[in-house]
Amino acid sequence: MTSTTEPDLLAGADATLRDAITEADVPPLMATVAYLTGDLSVLRPELGPDPMRMLEPTAGIEPEQLAEARDLAFETLRRWRDAGRPAPPVPSAEALTEMLEFVVGGVPMADYRELFLEELGLDGADLRAPAWHKDDIAPDTDFRVLVIGAGMSGLLAAHRLQQAGVDVIVVEKDRDVGGTWLENTYPGCRVDVGNLFYSYSFAQSAEWPQHYSQQATLLDYFRRCADELGIRPLIRFSTEVVSLTFDETTAHWRAELRAGDGSSDTIDAHAVVSGVGQLNRPNLPDIKGMDTFAGPAFHSARWRHDVDLTDKRVAVIGTGASAAQLIPVIAEQVDKLSIFQRTANWLAPTPDYQDAVSPRQRQLLCDLPSYAQWSRFWLFWRNAEGMLPLVGVDPEWEPKDRSVSAMNDLLRQLFTAYLEMEFADRPDLLAKVVPQYPPSAKRVLRDNGIWARTLKRDNVELITEPIAEITPSGVRTRDGVEHDVDVIVYGTGFEASRFLMPMRVTGRGGVDLHEQWHGDARAYLGVTIPEFPNLFCMYGPNTNIVINGSIIFFSECEVVYILESLHWMLASGARAIDCRRDVHDEYNVRIDAGNRARAWGASDVNSWYKNAKGHVTQNWPFSLLEYWQQTRAFNPSDYEAL
Ligand code: NAP
Repeated sequence: MTSTTEPDLLAGADATLRDAITEADVPPLMATVAYLTGDLSVLRPELGPDPMRMLEPTAGIEPEQLAEARDLAFETLRRWRDAGRPAPPVPSAEALTEMLEFVVGGVPMADYRELFLEELGLDGADLRAPAWHKDDIAPDTDFRVLVIGAGMSGLLAAHRLQQAGVDVIVVEKDRDVGGTWLENTYPGCRVDVGNLFYSYSFAQSAEWPQHYSQQATLLDYFRRCADELGIRPLIRFSTEVVSLTFDETTAHWRAELRAGDGSSDTIDAHAVVSGVGQLNRPNLPDIKGMDTFAGPAFHSARWRHDVDLTDKRVAVIGTGASAAQLIPVIAEQVDKLSIFQRTANWLAPTPDYQDAVSPRQRQLLCDLPSYAQWSRFWLFWRNAEGMLPLVGVDPEWEPKDRSVSAMNDLLRQLFTAYLEMEFADRPDLLAKVVPQYPPSAKRVLRDNGIWARTLKRDNVELITEPIAEITPSGVRTRDGVEHDVDVIVYGTGFEASRFLMPMRVTGRGGVDLHEQWHGDARAYLGVTIPEFPNLFCMYGPNTNIVINGSIIFFSECEVVYILESLHWMLASGARAIDCRRDVHDEYNVRIDAGNRARAWGASDVNSWYKNAKGHVTQNWPFSLLEYWQQTRAFNPSDYEAL
């Protein structure tokens, strides 16, 4: 992809290239140079990041090393350019490992190599595309898959099924594609995962306008994917799946549908893929008097654009990821903002959180081949996989109420120092904003200083006194103070643990899915559930990425697994597969133990990672590598074939 706004970086003057390099992230830059030129000598360990300092702006690379690395990159790229930009040599396995290891500061990466060949698509190949076509293995078998939802996961599933030549129909309750990015239109809504990483591996873009794009940009991305991949004609919009019932005689699922106009219909499918998401059913709190409030009151995910907040007195209840994005925007508009915080958030300093990608950065991403992909890998490591050691529980570490290991405590100190710096002039606020639980026990939010700037505004009040009741005129806190407001915004999150609700799902022997789960959703690999043959979940139980990774990565793994399952079924002639109970149970014992060994499982702080019973049903506790390994191949012995 070539930049449309700037001259080609590699065709212009030396100064253009040199200038652009001053804004490059050095770890992916040096890997790019090594990859393009085949010259591994540029990967000098002293110029690379420190794996223990990944959260710092330059990941521990000192200014002199940064300058030296940039000079070296410039000289090497200039020679390569002047030699006519020869095609990159295909790197040996060892060479690729060396490049990966440089980017992560020397952590052994041999096990990650194949994952990254898929994830980065360095030569433009889509290595996760199904390597089979139904016409080649079961041309005469009638097989149709119902995909529920046309958000990020549903679109992906439909694409892969279509690539494999499998008949697919998508049912979407909304009027358009995009899922969460269609429904969440609150002011300030943006992704908090770097966009180079938060995008499909097969539809990467070097042209994101911001490092963390806003809702409209993401919605546009998913709309374009739906159009370009030819998914839209497969979708029945404004139609909700009310129930799913498995017919044991035919091994079919029957879906009862309800359209927006109230009409009903049914469709039959041989398999169902649920792409309904975890974070889309608004959670409205159960606060006394909520229905007595006289003014407009609405949830962040059901933003009332018809309610003008200008010069109004507004209450925001909740300070999670959604509220923390909308509060700074509306604070500038309203007369008075009363923020009701129950639990403070840890903030990860992210200076470029709201920044546009600069022209030079864009030139590098668009014109320097593979730099965008290496930057994707850099984000993968720096924000997700490389953070895992920081959230593991050390059984010997005491006390565990504010950190769960020495590494986790370092993170706590780093984050605390950031808050102390941001609120140095406001000890009254500082006392309220420093969390009292281990970092990562709840979702860590990103911040570029805007939280402190907002809370310090004259028209903003941060209230930590618990809410006693909502009254016709506002919010009364337990200390008896009345906070009179004109509008209430509930930034109170989603019913994340109520998987697949409100669908009624009936499996073998008339088993009801939600009765079987009894409030404790579980699945094998987050995908399949005993007694529910050929029902495949995406973003199902225990597949939430906790540290700031991309849920798209999980969805891509899940859909590989689903396609592998279907391949086996079609090739073997099995009508359906049902996950073995013992396999499922054993797997979940391991998942539970894994989650107990992470900050979010060890801490008793409230969070949406847990269900009402306090059980972590949302999070994946291991590495992304492990999820990829476990979902790469379908093992028929894990299943009963029907
Ligand atoms: P959330 O993280 O669950 O936050 C809900 C907030 O409401 C919390 O502050 C919670 O307090 C508070 N709350 C809930 N019930 C309450 C009550 N009865 N009284 C007072 N306060 C109450 O929900 P969210 O902010 O919508 O975010 C959910 C997830 O969606 C995020 O973690 C993230 O994964 C995703 N998300 C992502 C983005 C993004 O990528 N940009 C943006 C938004 C959301 P407690 O903390 O005490 O429970």
